Amino acid sequence: MIRFDILTIFPEVVEPYLSTSILKRAQEKRLVKFSIHNLRRWTADSHRTVDDKPYGGGPGMIMKVEPIFKAVSALKNSKVRRSNAKSNPKSKTRVILLSASGKPLTQRVAEQCARRYQRIVLICGRYEGVDHRVAQYVADEELSIGPYVLTGGEIPAMAVVDAVTRLVPGVIRKESLEEESFSLGWRPEPDPASAGTVQGEYPQYTRPEVFYPNLKKKGTAWRVPKILLSGDHRRIVAWRAQHMRGAKKH
Ligand code: SAM
Repeated sequence: MIRFDILTIFPEVVEPYLSTSILKRAQEKRLVKFSIHNLRRWTADSHRTVDDKPYGGGPGMIMKVEPIFKAVSALKNSKVRRSNAKSNPKSKTRVILLSASGKPLTQRVAEQCARRYQRIVLICGRYEGVDHRVAQYVADEELSIGPYVLTGGEIPAMAVVDAVTRLVPGVIRKESLEEESFSLGWRPEPDPASAGTVQGEYPQYTRPEVFYPNLKKKGTAWRVPKILLSGDHRRIVAWRAQHMRGAKKH
């Protein structure tokens, strides 16, 4: 089981996503556990302050290091961590700060998380960002879900949880994982020089065989490639290999 601890000041943003569909079932099957923590719990003042003005001036507010440090320390020392540590060989905790300028979240990173860690703590920033000492001293790494800036780390945290959870054995069918985009299961590891380029899966179709987008004028027909209807497995495999979706649009 992998346990995810999500540290956020907006638990209500995260909760619905984790209690829907595959993630919900994964938790019900006890393959993963999601714990959402309101960071304000680790504040001491009556306003439950988690942010303050930036040193040196500048716009907006910065999330303070203290509540985040206290929260992560408390989680690391919690009973779950200690009791699992004895029985589970991969009992390492990984503390991840979501950050627009962090290391890109790739399928490779998700696979490593699923394989290596028993517990993943996700710190969701807000406002103008997080006191840099969190990246320096509290987090093990900073992950980014892409070169753009969102208002908070909650969506990025959900991207990490989702990408990692579906790789946990038993969450979805093994065959589905093996043939997916970016999966290393069925092709050589990508050349690091090509990192960042798109490596998709082959085009997929389902019924109907022919779709008429304009019912009045049947002239236009969107057809499924004939070979996929042939039942010839070897030719289908060859066709799929030829039609891997790359960076170029088909
Ligand atoms: N001033 C920061 C900057 O220039 O990178 C942006 C702060 S953003 C408004 C607030 C928080 O959202 C960040 O601290 C981070 O936790 C999260 N965030 C925003 N975009 C992200 C991305 N692409 N990947 C991961 N986290 C992101």
